[in-house]
Amino acid sequence: KTVLVTGGTGFIGQVLCRELLARGYALTVLSRQPDDQVKAICGRVKSASSLKELESRSGFDAVINLAGEGIADKRWSKARKKALRDSRILLTKELVSVIRGWDHLPEVLVSGSAVGFYGDQGTSTVTEETSPHDEFTHQLCHDWELAARDLEKDGVRVCISRTGVVVGANGGFLTRMILPFKLGLGGRLGTGQQFMPWVHRTDVVQALIWMLETPSAKGAFNVVSPQPATNQEFTRQLGKVLHRPTPFPAPGPILRIALGEMSRLLLTGQRAIPKRLKDADFNFRYADLSSALEDAIRG
Ligand code: NDP
Repeated sequence: KTVLVTGGTGFIGQVLCRELLARGYALTVLSRQPDDQVKAICGRVKSASSLKELESRSGFDAVINLAGEGIADKRWSKARKKALRDSRILLTKELVSVIRGWDHLPEVLVSGSAVGFYGDQGTSTVTEETSPHDEFTHQLCHDWELAARDLEKDGVRVCISRTGVVVGANGGFLTRMILPFKLGLGGRLGTGQQFMPWVHRTDVVQALIWMLETPSAKGAFNVVSPQPATNQEFTRQLGKVLHRPTPFPAPGPILRIALGEMSRLLLTGQRAIPKRLKDADFNFRYADLSSALEDAIRG
């Protein structure tokens, strides 16, 4: 079967591509990077440098859409917020419009989103049915999801991955925080009571493939481990895995000054659980934080 992947060169996408290739899928990756670079990252895939290039295709059996500017890469200035929105919402709208032009519509579109959809939820349990708190990440994810779900009108099955904080080797959020921890300078963020709905990258990739391959799957799924941890617990476990103390909390007000509105990513959270995946008997390989962190650090 043929699959078009956007964001295939990313932290999640590159592992997804290699797993799909191993399962015999033929992949095309939409990327701004040169073809040889895409192949070096993703494996034996074809690459396309623009959506325009894909207009002339007769179609793909499935599309997985993960592209987007890094949410935690820069402070959320007005221009940065626009870049975060355009690289997801505009790109997804254009993607849907290109798909509509194909002779054969895909069977499924699996599209990205994040637990940020729910906004700050304090310590209450968050399922796919929880009402969101309106803030920037909610608006970003809501509009991104809506742009993808527009394809439902054409009879295409659409699945949305509301992904948590992804833990994996070489990249993502752990790489950013690991240096101070290695130096013994790690510590909780703010009060440490905010929940971090972490998930191992292997489980994200398996969940995306499950959505791709399960004809009855549709709508939004929380792609988070069944055991969300508070930031304090996460900090303690990471220190333990690295055999380092974690004595230095980063005070909330300082993070707010240093990072501006983006500090909400660190100081607020969601006690999200993967209700719909659990109801479907999806099996998490890394349900427990210490094994997930051990693997990510060793990898
Ligand atoms: P990465 O940042 O590692 O990769 C995203 C990919 O998107 C890049 O490889 C890049 O591909 C493409 N991209 C970036 N900016 C643009 C742009 N302006 N226009 C077109 N394409 C662009 O992301 P992850 O793999 O970590 O995550 C994948 C998706 O899942 C993202 O949208 C992210 O927001 C979401 N997510 C990730 C979480 C995490 O913890 N990692 C948590 C929750 C959600 P190229 O350079 O080849 O064009």
